[in-house]
Amino acid sequence: MGNSYGAICRKCGGRFEVREGGGFAFHLLHCTKCGEEKTVRFDELGEIHAAYLKGLQGPYAVATSEHDADVRNTFPGEAIGEKEYHKQVEAFAGNCQCSGRYTFRAKPACPGCGAKAFDKDPDANHRCYD
Ligand SMILES: [Zn+2]
Ligand SMILES: [Zn+2]
Repeated sequence: MGNSYGAICRKCGGRFEVREGGGFAFHLLHCTKCGEEKTVRFDELGEIHAAYLKGLQGPYAVATSEHDADVRNTFPGEAIGEKEYHKQVEAFAGNCQCSGRYTFRAKPACPGCGAKAFDKDPDANHRCYD
């Protein structure tokens, strides 16, 4: 579900790896200011994730469908929609040390100069994880 690729910064020419999307077991957020990456595991989220699974029509992912159905049947709390879920995950992720916030929408940035404009590196390996 997630993937990573090599990137070349348009500003400083630095090369770095960008990861996008999450996996079966975690979300990937970025800082709104500096672009730093933050992973939030579903098991850390606990009830927040369970409430979201309960609100889904089907399983979050085929690989976890048994677990997801189990949660839907046993979680006693209120189901929440995707918008509310994202809000809660972002609140859970908290603030970056640069004072920015971690959000789903924030874009990764060059670790060298902080620019958010970069091109895919055609020579780097494109790789899928999870
Ligand atoms: Zn930051
Ligand atoms: Zn740069």
